[in-house]
Amino acid sequence: MLSFVDVADPQAIYSDEWDAVIVISADVCRCPITEVALLASHAQEIDKRVGRVPVLLMAPGLAGGRLIVAPAQCDADYGDVSVFAAAAIQAVTLAQDAGATRPLLWVDNVPAVQCRQASAVAALACGQALWQPLEARQAGVPTSIQQMGLMNAVLPAATLTALEAGRSFARDLCGTEPERMSAIAFANTCTEAFAGSAVTVEVIAEPEMLQREYPLLSAVARASCAVPRHQPRVVKLEYCPSGPIEHTLLLAGKGVIYDTGGASLKVGGTMSGMSRDKGGAAAIAGLMLALSKLQPTGVRVVAELGLVRNSIGSDAMVPDEIITTHAGIRVRIGNSDAEGRLVLTELLSHLRLQACDAASPELISVATLTSHAARAFGSYPAMVFNSVARESALPEQLQHCATLMGEPMALSPLHKEDFMNVADKTGAADVISAKPVGSSQVERGHQLAAAFMLQASGLAAHGIAATKPLPFIHLDIAGAAVSGDPRYGKPTSTPLLALWSYLRRR
Ligand SMILES: [Zn+2]
Repeated sequence: MLSFVDVADPQAIYSDEWDAVIVISADVCRCPITEVALLASHAQEIDKRVGRVPVLLMAPGLAGGRLIVAPAQCDADYGDVSVFAAAAIQAVTLAQDAGATRPLLWVDNVPAVQCRQASAVAALACGQALWQPLEARQAGVPTSIQQMGLMNAVLPAATLTALEAGRSFARDLCGTEPERMSAIAFANTCTEAFAGSAVTVEVIAEPEMLQREYPLLSAVARASCAVPRHQPRVVKLEYCPSGPIEHTLLLAGKGVIYDTGGASLKVGGTMSGMSRDKGGAAAIAGLMLALSKLQPTGVRVVAELGLVRNSIGSDAMVPDEIITTHAGIRVRIGNSDAEGRLVLTELLSHLRLQACDAASPELISVATLTSHAARAFGSYPAMVFNSVARESALPEQLQHCATLMGEPMALSPLHKEDFMNVADKTGAADVISAKPVGSSQVERGHQLAAAFMLQASGLAAHGIAATKPLPFIHLDIAGAAVSGDPRYGKPTSTPLLALWSYLRRR
């Protein structure tokens, strides 16, 4: 795993402690480090790529004799800090390919508000670029760069190292194949990672208890239960700060270990990559790992992760079944491939009860929930929210924090039709979980899922006129959990940085 070191001395660019200098700047030829600006300007005379794309220059006086200059310019109208992440990924890959093992990173301090965290975002993007899948590491594939020096970074190296530890943990949990990262393995990985830390772990494994407390989650898991190694788990994590608690964040994460679609089977090649359907639970577990190291004051964070394999088999849940939820709502199953909302519903119902007694509570669910969200917003998470969150402008605050950390999100308000769409028309049930076809073929497919969860979890009874209003935000990360190819791209750990930035905004 990549770690960072603060480097205060400007002379470090000449030090043999480092073996490459990476400079990310809007204009590399006018970079404030005179020697870098001179080298880049000279190189530009014979190579027009300098200042346009990341290049490696021979620099005999500098650390390792290697200078990598990468341009990053944030467009004032529609740009965001992610251009620094993209430049850093290319630059650190170049450094690694050139044989560097200890690069020093320097990033322009950018005056534009949306790029205030450019140096932090660039450093963390290096971690994203250098991360290798757990299976590859277990097979002995080496990771060449394990430490980087940071000059003029806006966040301390210790903070960035803790965030990278969380992100790396989240990528491992999300990106590992379903036998190696079964629900049991996921739970065990959490138990080991948090042992002796500031985060407590509780694992619920007992079938009768899962059946009683998490009925919809247990229905999703039904066809997996005959195979002992595929059985479900619920993992509860809690971080309690020292000193007074001013604020409580309650997080629910979808951890579908593998999604075959169940009886509504995924066909035509759409099942491949479905080991990544646990990105929500993974990102939350990663955030908790970062919090266990950073130990912020004032905020208590409670998380429930639903870890289930959606298998197909003779005992599989099928559409038309009616199941009563933990909150006492009768749910008709509309589509067994819309399983994530069933899992989250039960986690949210438990968090709802905790929220009622908590100091200034906010509930947030994170899930690779619907292909509709990915169709609607591409790689930007869809942020759906209830009336209570809306009235306190929490979605805008989260969106601002997310944009600063390079994880911009799209606001997606609920409307009355979303609730009408989930009403069961027969009276035999209160709500129906989904339409019979895939969400991307359904009008307002991802909003409908959020409306369903509000109803089925009992959260709908905590609206603005209730005696106990509870703010709720749902993040559908279906298009954001993996970068590029959903099957083989690297897990992003989104929205870990957004949530970290959000919980320390006060
Ligand atoms: Zn599914």
